[in-house]
Amino acid sequence: MADFKELYDYNPYLKEFDSEVVSCTQKDGRFEVILKETAFYPEGGGQPYDIGTLNGIAVMDVQQKKEGIVHTCAAGFEEGEAVHGIIDWNRRFDLMQNHSGEHIVSGLIHRAFGYENVGFHMGEVIQIDFDGPLSDEQLEEIERKANEIVMKNEKIIALFPDEEELKTIDYRSKKELTGVVRIIDIPGADTCACCGTHVAYTGEIGLIKLLSRQKHKKGVRVEMVSGMRAFLYVQKAMKENHAVSVALSAKELETSSAVDALLKASSLKDARIREVSEILLQAKQKEFADGSHLILDFNEPLDRNVLVRHANALADKADIACVFSGNETSWNYMILSRNVDLRQYTKQINSELNGRGGGPKEMIQGNLQASEEQIREALGRIFAM
Ligand SMILES: [Zn+2]
Repeated sequence: MADFKELYDYNPYLKEFDSEVVSCTQKDGRFEVILKETAFYPEGGGQPYDIGTLNGIAVMDVQQKKEGIVHTCAAGFEEGEAVHGIIDWNRRFDLMQNHSGEHIVSGLIHRAFGYENVGFHMGEVIQIDFDGPLSDEQLEEIERKANEIVMKNEKIIALFPDEEELKTIDYRSKKELTGVVRIIDIPGADTCACCGTHVAYTGEIGLIKLLSRQKHKKGVRVEMVSGMRAFLYVQKAMKENHAVSVALSAKELETSSAVDALLKASSLKDARIREVSEILLQAKQKEFADGSHLILDFNEPLDRNVLVRHANALADKADIACVFSGNETSWNYMILSRNVDLRQYTKQINSELNGRGGGPKEMIQGNLQASEEQIREALGRIFAM
């Protein structure tokens, strides 16, 4: 646990600061710099580290280590050198919005259902694992309440209670804490031990958007975003919805029923196509003479069940019935026979016609990468009697 003496602990809005180099050690072509005091937040408590510059030199990583807060820099410094640090504020403020948003959601879920946040990761989206189940409706309600807390513009307070005071506070925490504990309190939403950086007022979070819910162990994994990230996500999602609305001539808030209607119409069409192709194939079957030795029949890509029935009808008319579906140089094949063991031909067919496949003695199937002409020639020869 941090000891809360750093600049970011007391003023998370500090974007620039002056300090002094305590030590600088070279490691793998980079430089590990420890400062007298720093506004760079080191990775911890689920929150990623800050980046920025020290005297114009890039700070690429910041970690809390035994010896202090280590800034990994692109170039080195002299011991005792005065430095001016600048934090990448866009990144930091985005992390503050998202971390504070996460507290509100975790806190509201904890208060409503008693669940703990048992896993927390701040990546492109914020991922939180809870140790109990939640439905979409329950999360919708939490999302609405969370945005109410944003709109109330509550002051987010950092408390440093002593041991006795701490015993009287009911707060969320992932582990047993010792030493100085900082409690982040968001009225109406959350009380939690945390070492991260937060916005001063909930209104700065702007927007909290839950993105997805999936089962995780005995609970749920929730993905969310806050702040500008949430706004950009909603903007993108609305653009997608707008495109669907234009394509289907549907109102923006009625796109899903328009899509349902489209899918229904499409599956009715598929059923009609199956019926028509069945009629066409039955007519085609009559063209082949009963008692043939070999039938070769090429078709457009069609429903598999329709083709299986067609191949069976042809197998009643010939020793060997070969049905293909595909185009130009790529064909799926089904070869059926009632009286010849087809397995003996599989290897030769596949090797001559660049194919794959196989099956039991009465039916082999697979695909061939060859033209109709090549297939007719090869099978005519292979199945000749
Ligand atoms: Zn936190």
